[in-house]
Amino acid sequence: MPVTASINDRWGPHADSLPGRTLVAMLEAQRLPHALLIAGPIGVGKRDLAVRIAQSLLCESADPRDGGPCRECRDCRRLHDPLQPKLDPQHTDVEIITPGSLCAESDHDHSNTHTIGICIIRRIEHVATLAPFEADQRVIIINPAEALSPDAADAFLKTLEEPPERVYFILLTSQEEQLSETIRSRCRIITLAPLPSAQLNRWLEHWSAAEGLTLPDDPERRSELERLARGRPGWLQSNLRDGDPVALRAAQIDDAVRIADASRAERLNWSEQVVGRFSTSQTLANLELMLEAWTDWWRDLWLQQTNQQAAVVHVTQLERIERLADLYDQEQVSQFLEKIQRTRALIERGVTHGLNARLALDVLLLNIPVPLERS
Ligand SMILES: [Zn+2]
Ligand SMILES: [Zn+2]
Repeated sequence: MPVTASINDRWGPHADSLPGRTLVAMLEAQRLPHALLIAGPIGVGKRDLAVRIAQSLLCESADPRDGGPCRECRDCRRLHDPLQPKLDPQHTDVEIITPGSLCAESDHDHSNTHTIGICIIRRIEHVATLAPFEADQRVIIINPAEALSPDAADAFLKTLEEPPERVYFILLTSQEEQLSETIRSRCRIITLAPLPSAQLNRWLEHWSAAEGLTLPDDPERRSELERLARGRPGWLQSNLRDGDPVALRAAQIDDAVRIADASRAERLNWSEQVVGRFSTSQTLANLELMLEAWTDWWRDLWLQQTNQQAAVVHVTQLERIERLADLYDQEQVSQFLEKIQRTRALIERGVTHGLNARLALDVLLLNIPVPLERS
């Protein structure tokens, strides 16, 4: 990156927003709180911002104007490898704690758990008392904070209240309301909101050019891409790196249309394929993506039925939307949308309670509206 790297290069998509500026001001004043909670919807860019904060604390040549990381030095690159952006930080003094992380007990296997248990927090507490290995500070990122089990959260309170001098905790959450007041009150909360469309577009042009990614030329596809992103730069980052989000969404819609027309047995069979025998966190994440697609799709049908075509998400599928919207009763579509929302909420909450995701999906699939001519 050239010396003229912009504030967006250093601080990312949220550099110009109020939470971004607040954060920069705290770093400038060398007053970064030792317990920070970054809240905001999935895909808004929380993890990216947390990594940038860690970089700015460890960077050898942080920008003197705003404390922003250079993103080029050895420390910065160990925290974010531009060639493998999904790789976790490879720095001994920065750790991202997730439900599968190492714990204090050598005989525990957490690879299939959805919670961050007390044994993981015990290890963190121990690590936090050690001097950093290489840098001057240590950064511990908890992702997601709502995965902390109740006893882990309790045990963590004391550390959060009086964090060791050289340790920074950054908690990430997309479900702030699920965190206990005691956890929230001990953190400085930074809330990331979806970006307004013009700001998201400016950032998208800049970022895709820097990454060497081409955006769709076709205005309809481009417009659908922006509608799918809903102001979430993190969503765009991960989906554009993985391929073509508009094509992926089209395939998800094909499935939704096909399954709405399928028999009861075919639906249940499909549910088994989607969820499988075990609901790992990866399956649940995929299920959530699928249900997001279904929400968008059935809402598009409803928007068509209620003459609100301008708000439709899938602008590349207008013909299909017009054709299928006529097949269903408007009231049934709106009720089914509520059912999808309830299923999503169940699955989100259920993660920590061992919910059978397969059962939740089965029930939803059997409730898909029946076309008018057949009812
Ligand atoms: Zn650096
Ligand atoms: Zn354990």
